[in-house]
Amino acid sequence: MNLRLLSFAFAVAGTLTMSAARPQVVAHRGYWNAPGSAQNSIRALVKADSIGADAVELDVWISADNVLYVNHDPDFKGVNIEKSDSETLSKLRLANGEPLPTLDSYLEVAKGLKPDLVVEMKTHTDPKREDVAVEKTINMITEKGLTDRTSYITFSRNSFDNLVAMSGRPVQFLSATEPAMLDKIGGDGADYHISVYRTNPQWFDELRALDKTINIWTVNSPADLKYCINHGADFITTDDPELAMQLVEEAYAPKEMKIMTYNLRFGELADMDRLAAEIKAHNPDFVAIQEVDVNTNRAASKHNNGLNYVTELAQRTGMFGYYGRAIDFGPGYYGIGILSRYPAEKIEKFELPNPGNEEPRALLIGTFELPDHKIVFACTHLDYRDHDTRKKQARFVADKLTQSPYPALLAGDFNATNGQIYIESIKAKMKELTNDRKTWPADVPQDKLDFIFGYPKENFQLKSCFVPEPAQNTASDHLPVVSDIIVNF
Ligand code: MG
Repeated sequence: MNLRLLSFAFAVAGTLTMSAARPQVVAHRGYWNAPGSAQNSIRALVKADSIGADAVELDVWISADNVLYVNHDPDFKGVNIEKSDSETLSKLRLANGEPLPTLDSYLEVAKGLKPDLVVEMKTHTDPKREDVAVEKTINMITEKGLTDRTSYITFSRNSFDNLVAMSGRPVQFLSATEPAMLDKIGGDGADYHISVYRTNPQWFDELRALDKTINIWTVNSPADLKYCINHGADFITTDDPELAMQLVEEAYAPKEMKIMTYNLRFGELADMDRLAAEIKAHNPDFVAIQEVDVNTNRAASKHNNGLNYVTELAQRTGMFGYYGRAIDFGPGYYGIGILSRYPAEKIEKFELPNPGNEEPRALLIGTFELPDHKIVFACTHLDYRDHDTRKKQARFVADKLTQSPYPALLAGDFNATNGQIYIESIKAKMKELTNDRKTWPADVPQDKLDFIFGYPKENFQLKSCFVPEPAQNTASDHLPVVSDIIVNF
């Protein structure tokens, strides 16, 4: 697997980037924390390969007689590498009995293995020696055909500039630098200590916006590893690659979710207990609800007058509730809502285009925090009278969702059916996650008006979709739609 830039620029949004793909696990100084291994040993490289680590990090020094060595500290067993010649250095043995590896011997073995190489150019006392070390390292990696598998890291600004200019490969800076400044000095990304990111969590978004890759060291505890996964690190550098790989695997396993959309007909046909029971019976993760009142005074739904439907339903279902006003209605509001099993990081409401001057409509979008990932869930209810209005509204909601930096779901009452331009324009960009069952009117359904869509298409699969049998005395004039979906993050 080659190291690559993992962000995807969005055509529409320009500066928005999709949350990073699955992070790559970098075995810090190889997998040295394994039996028979040692830091920066060839054994540690082989061990990292044997467990399928994505990459191996190694540290490079140059000896007084221009031989490249792999070691972390400037000294090994009291012998200073920069100031010693290869005759002296060749006699040194690592903790596991191996000779102190030359870069040449290390790369010879790496050639036959799979992990990528993250080569750290160490900070030498003399910058001119660094220049020689960088040039010789790049040449050796080129000669051994390892260029495509190599990226570089360094604390040294001098080596950083040389690597950016000469290597033609991704270069990440190890010295904590503000994203804007990092962008100014060039290079492909940041490789900072986890404490730097914890102190400056806004740097995750800033780095992504600048199209910089994010590497984090040295991440060993489960809590720290999860922090990196949840924040969309591109690379996690760790002394425990097996644990890191296991946690990445778990976080990126396909997730099943239950998504529901339900037009409640402003509570005319049922009280809050019944509507809540209808929702709770399905145990959904997210519910998009339409025709939702807050503190109204309707003759048709006297039993619900004065209630805030979202908070009533949230309370009864044990979910979080969020409201989006479409219009003022009597003493209160009429609009749409979201019920979620997960807390929201951000909720936004947009007024939909309304060229026909019809009843105002809304789109409610939330970013929600799942245990390992973020996901966007949105609810809408489109106009039903004017062609041009509904067409523009359908485009608007699809455009908004396809700008999402996270996998996104859109659910609601679209007042349109399959084959009509409104639904087809959304389906051009998003995947339909419902079946063909008709949803309205609930007693003798004529049309399917209620849909669930996912973006990007390839991240979502429909496992099954449930629409109850038509019946008299339903709780609403729409039937609810409940989809079991599989999300790939
Ligand atoms: Mg290092």
